[in-house]
Amino acid sequence: TSRFEGVTMAPPDPILGVSDAFRADTNDLKLNLGVGAYRTEELQPYVLKVVKKVENLMLEKGDNKEYLPIEGLAAFNKATAELMFGADSPVIREGRVATVQGLSGTGSLRLAAAFIQRYFPDAKALISSPTWGNHKNIFNDARVFFSEYRYYDPKTVGLDFDGMIADIKAAPDGSFVLLHGCAHNPTGIDPTREQWEKIADVIQEKNHIPFFDVAYQGFASGSLDEDAASVRLFIERGMEILVAQSYSKNLGLYAERIGAINVVCSSSDAATRVKSQLKRLARPMYSNPPVHGARIVANVVGDPTLFSEWKEEMQLMAGRIKGVRQKLFDSLLEKDKSGKDWSFILRQIGMFSYTGLNKAQSDNMTNKWHVYMTKDGRISLAGLSLAKCEYLADAIIDSFH
Ligand code: PMP
Repeated sequence: TSRFEGVTMAPPDPILGVSDAFRADTNDLKLNLGVGAYRTEELQPYVLKVVKKVENLMLEKGDNKEYLPIEGLAAFNKATAELMFGADSPVIREGRVATVQGLSGTGSLRLAAAFIQRYFPDAKALISSPTWGNHKNIFNDARVFFSEYRYYDPKTVGLDFDGMIADIKAAPDGSFVLLHGCAHNPTGIDPTREQWEKIADVIQEKNHIPFFDVAYQGFASGSLDEDAASVRLFIERGMEILVAQSYSKNLGLYAERIGAINVVCSSSDAATRVKSQLKRLARPMYSNPPVHGARIVANVVGDPTLFSEWKEEMQLMAGRIKGVRQKLFDSLLEKDKSGKDWSFILRQIGMFSYTGLNKAQSDNMTNKWHVYMTKDGRISLAGLSLAKCEYLADAIIDSFH
């Protein structure tokens, strides 16, 4: 008998498990709208041209494979902070940002959670209801207590703004409030600028610490600056904040695991100390981060021509998603005779649409129509083509009624 008899079977991951089920399906009609990964109109994975170009340049240059410092590649850390806060931001000029390269968005969030647990062991985190499923895993594993704030209103398929504000107000002072910088996952519903101002008011009043998760900068609107507006609004108020970044989506570097955690402090002295402790937490976990993705980002952002090529491709990707969003809406409107209001689809932003389909209806989508999606009713429009919109509309209408 095995020494591991006592190890029970773990449940499949609710998001990545969808891809496993998709692979096992042999029907030609099958469609994978589970995981948030960009596909071309032909539904193929996409490596950005600018990435291929820069990888060739890197190969020619023949960089070595020595270890990076614990905090990562210096040129990457500089570039990533500038993309988020703006190159001329006072927080950068004054050396008030502690930036550490992380293992993409997930690893950066995890490092920040470890930091919260160590230095604020009694503080609570607040996460939106619903949120990206891994947020709960991350805080649980890091032993950070969390509760949820209201976010989604099923009646309007929109933002429950009053509920959100009330719950942030009711949380203990000094809580860490996790916010999606743009393109909220899974709902695709973002606060307006006016609403962000009010959220910032309450967070300031309550002495909370905002903790931004920015996994889609440039991917929501097509503009890096526009998608950083929420974060910058808090910065302009002089607040101390945490920001996790990811280059999985906007540069298509999913498997390279490249991202960063930034802690914006009120003094450069505090930033230096915070950075030293982030490094101390990283060292026993993974020692130092991988170099390849960091070099890609640093080289793309550091070269004006490549940087503008990236921005063009980002707009192309964001544009294709907006195109299928519109086509899906048009198809639903045309085919559905029930009079249901589908306009929520057009109000949502980013990679996802939160359809309002419940678990049984989502099961129908998969079992009858071979459309793979998460059971919370989220579909990834990045995995949809114009050619498949009508089929998807049929599946959605059938599953609702
Ligand atoms: N946060 C959110 C809200 C996400 O949607 C994702 C990607 N699904 C991530 C973080 C992190 O992804 P990665 O670890 O690939 O950067």
